[in-house]
Amino acid sequence: MPSQSYTGGCHCGAVAYTVEVDTEQALKCNCSICTKLGAVWAFAPQAKFKLTKGADEQGDYLFNKKKLHHRFCTSCGIESYANGTGPDGSPMVGINLRCVEGVDVDKLSPRAWDGRSM
Ligand SMILES: [Zn+2]
Repeated sequence: MPSQSYTGGCHCGAVAYTVEVDTEQALKCNCSICTKLGAVWAFAPQAKFKLTKGADEQGDYLFNKKKLHHRFCTSCGIESYANGTGPDGSPMVGINLRCVEGVDVDKLSPRAWDGRSM
């Protein structure tokens, strides 16, 4: 399935974005943060992502290799996306598909991603 356009964001609505992403490429990661977060991810080039609200209302959490910026709303705490650099060095955004309108993550078959070993 090609990428489609979606809107997403945190729970309270302070942080919102639009993104073009392919939900067939969904991933579940076993790293220490993702097991706690329960996120289902899909990745998109940064150019396909537009933060429409909340640039000043999000935190920036880094851990381990500090390569991925985990963006969470400072009001409701929900991490609706993360951004960093893809394997080829280009800017990428990880979309928490649980925070995207019109995506039923229970109908996806996310591939397992061994983030814990990276
Ligand atoms: Zn919020």
